[in-house]
Amino acid sequence: MELRTKISNYYENNRRKNEEIHERRVEEVYKKIPEMREIDALIKNIGIKAAIYQIKNPDSDKTIKDSQEIYNLKQKKDEILTKNGYPKDYLEEIYTCSDCHDTGVFNGKKCHCMQKLIVEELYDMSSISYMLEKENFDTFDLNVFSEKTYEKFGLSPRENMRGILTIARNFINTFDEKNDVNLIFWGPTGQGKTFLLNCIAKEIIKTDAIVIYQTAYEILKTIEDRKFRNEKTEKYNLFFEADLLIVDDLGIEMTNAFTNSEIFNIINTRLLRGKKTLISTNLSPKELSITYTDRVFSRVFQKFVPVRFFGPDLRWQEEK
Ligand SMILES: [Zn+2]
Repeated sequence: MELRTKISNYYENNRRKNEEIHERRVEEVYKKIPEMREIDALIKNIGIKAAIYQIKNPDSDKTIKDSQEIYNLKQKKDEILTKNGYPKDYLEEIYTCSDCHDTGVFNGKKCHCMQKLIVEELYDMSSISYMLEKENFDTFDLNVFSEKTYEKFGLSPRENMRGILTIARNFINTFDEKNDVNLIFWGPTGQGKTFLLNCIAKEIIKTDAIVIYQTAYEILKTIEDRKFRNEKTEKYNLFFEADLLIVDDLGIEMTNAFTNSEIFNIINTRLLRGKKTLISTNLSPKELSITYTDRVFSRVFQKFVPVRFFGPDLRWQEEK
């Protein structure tokens, strides 16, 4: 199904579902408290009469009295609802998104709920959500990291990880600030880089921000599909527009002049727009600079805080 159709179905279903719930609630309350039906009828009646009167006598100020009366009746409704154990807003219209009232448009722009929906559809967020359920700060265990001090670094992987957690928390807490803080996690495989990316992704997604989480391979595939197969560009454009772009596992396998310049164009544009990016890689900064010789590279990576991971490969430990 086309994305556009999927989206419009989504909003239509939401509106219908919410309307049904609303109608059911009204019926339920009318049945239990017949007085409510009378009050509603009264409110409606005053409203209609006032509207007609207003058209016939545009200069009259009688409507002020009418609105006062309606206001009083609504107060009375609230009281009755509360007295019967219902929340005050029980009979109000229901919206899944209180900003756009389930239209998808807010302040003349795509509402955040629609942006989120597009991302979920385009990036198969279901598999990502599954990962985020398993790997998040609640399941993060510092104890899996070795306590053995590494002479080269003067600290143990566990101490190092404690520091990294502080950096990660700080990144999350200041995410909305335009502070130019982007992180690049680097170090060998099996050090918990991806796990930590998942932890951060989960926290940022909670704030309703648009997060795109992709491996570098998937990003490059999208770039190539767009270039060589003329596929739709929406998916590509979101690399630039997402509030947070997470590039997992940036390596050397798939690099060529075209993909290099594309991936750095994305990161550089995001930097210029003050949008944040997280990267993980098995390459050292030195290897990165050799692989991506582009002049843009050095400029781009100056804006990233390098966060180094080291220690024994955790994937082997788990099998013990
Ligand atoms: Zn909305």
